Amino acid sequence: MATKKSRNTSASKSRSKKPAENLSLLANVNAQFDQAAQHIKLPQGLVDQIKVCNNVYFIQFPVKIGKGYRFFYGWRAEHSHHKKPLKGGIRYSSKVSQEEVMALAALMTYKCAIVNVPFGGSKGGVCVRPRDMKVEELERITRRYTAELISKQFIGPGINVPAPDYGTGEREMAWIADTYDRFNPAGVDNMACVTGKPVAQGGIRGRAAATGRGVVYGLREMFRHKRDVQDVGLSCGLGGKRISIQGFGNVGYHAARILQLEDDAKIVSVGEWDGTVHNPDGIDVAALFAYRKRHGGVQGFPGGTVSDNGKDCLEAACDVLIPAALENQVARANMKKVKARVIAEAANGPLTEEADAYLSGKGVKIIPDVYLNAGGVTVSYFEWNKNLSHMRPGRLQKRLDEAKAEAFLAATEALVGKKVPDNVRRILLRGADEEDLVNSGLEETMITAYNEIRDIFNRKKAIADLRTAAYALAIEKVGQSYLDMGIFP
Ligand code: NAD
Repeated sequence: MATKKSRNTSASKSRSKKPAENLSLLANVNAQFDQAAQHIKLPQGLVDQIKVCNNVYFIQFPVKIGKGYRFFYGWRAEHSHHKKPLKGGIRYSSKVSQEEVMALAALMTYKCAIVNVPFGGSKGGVCVRPRDMKVEELERITRRYTAELISKQFIGPGINVPAPDYGTGEREMAWIADTYDRFNPAGVDNMACVTGKPVAQGGIRGRAAATGRGVVYGLREMFRHKRDVQDVGLSCGLGGKRISIQGFGNVGYHAARILQLEDDAKIVSVGEWDGTVHNPDGIDVAALFAYRKRHGGVQGFPGGTVSDNGKDCLEAACDVLIPAALENQVARANMKKVKARVIAEAANGPLTEEADAYLSGKGVKIIPDVYLNAGGVTVSYFEWNKNLSHMRPGRLQKRLDEAKAEAFLAATEALVGKKVPDNVRRILLRGADEEDLVNSGLEETMITAYNEIRDIFNRKKAIADLRTAAYALAIEKVGQSYLDMGIFP
């Protein structure tokens, strides 16, 4: 492997022109694509086809609000059909735009390819601020948007399968599934038209924590490789490592909880919308969660000192920084104050291109969003499979596995004349349930993908960082898919 120094020099060289601050997400994603595509041998026309967004459906639809009517704008972008169905969340935000939806759809194509989830990339959005609407209004918007998608075949278990994103959750996914079902009364696989549903409506256990858990599995794998951690002056294993997290929502909270409980890592700061909690001895994650639930923020939390800026956590003294809130958080104004040696991008696009180039050039290891936050789509894939099989994972074999383990243990104890301790017995005799299988599949996915990215990084000496390696891996896989199946007609 080239030395860290030579890699860093090439990183700065390959981005020699100072990039502009705050590029649009689409420009950013395409710039990262172009940089990675240089390292992959494919016909230029095919590279262009992989990059462009195939279809965008723009909808304006009316909804009855109060005593009147209001128009809403919505989109569903289909980036790539090299695999079917297409997959990607639905975002409700006043800032959503066609360009943003196209960028996020492209990211989904690359993300799915990297973690070997056999879907093309898609994304949807409706221009609405959920907090301004009543629940019944949101339901009407969601059902009407779904009806529009159905009418143009932009949704269906074998066509395009949405999921939650910013501003949407289980509740909206249940409305989408129900609307689709009303339009397709004979469809036996209707529940597979959307993922991220409540468990009682065909969802899967482990989905809520999946993105945060995937972040931990990705980090764990990096910290298993001596060479990777030595590159940044750290030792193997996450135990005792100082972690700073921005965002204590779905992704940040679960990542913090699992890192503390399962890896014995030290959560030294947590940034939220109203401030940052610092505690060099480690923050009690469960206590902070309970406090924030009760008070709506972190101000006044007694288990640490609390500053009044949610961005302070980005500059905290720590080994690993996990931005898990918003995009463009590490930028020109604060990039020189980042002290972490590893940045684990749980959020989408938390670093501007300039900050990314600066920190990579300084030798900081950045585990890119396009890989690291793919836990959600991975478990969505498991949910889609569950819906198509109409069977909860583990239902057939759990009791059989337990019976076999019981017989094996009894025979072993009889042979050696000793009893296995109760705590070990409990672990050995427990058959895998749905959540165990989901977590196991997620762990396998994140480990395999990390090693595929690492392999391309090590093989292609001109590739300067893991982000370029991850994009190159995605382009290689999508390109191979086109080469294998040909292009119609
Ligand atoms: P979330 O809304 O549950 O959590 C975000 C948290 O960030 C909230 O607790 C919010 O209060 C906090 N926050 C808001 N402004 C802040 C600020 N200025 N400083 C610090 N904290 C602030 O969202 P989420 O689902 O956890 O998503 C977080 C990021 O992860 C987003 O970029 C999202 O696109 C990305 N992501 C999420 C998933 C998923 O499955 N949820 C999957 C892939 C990527």
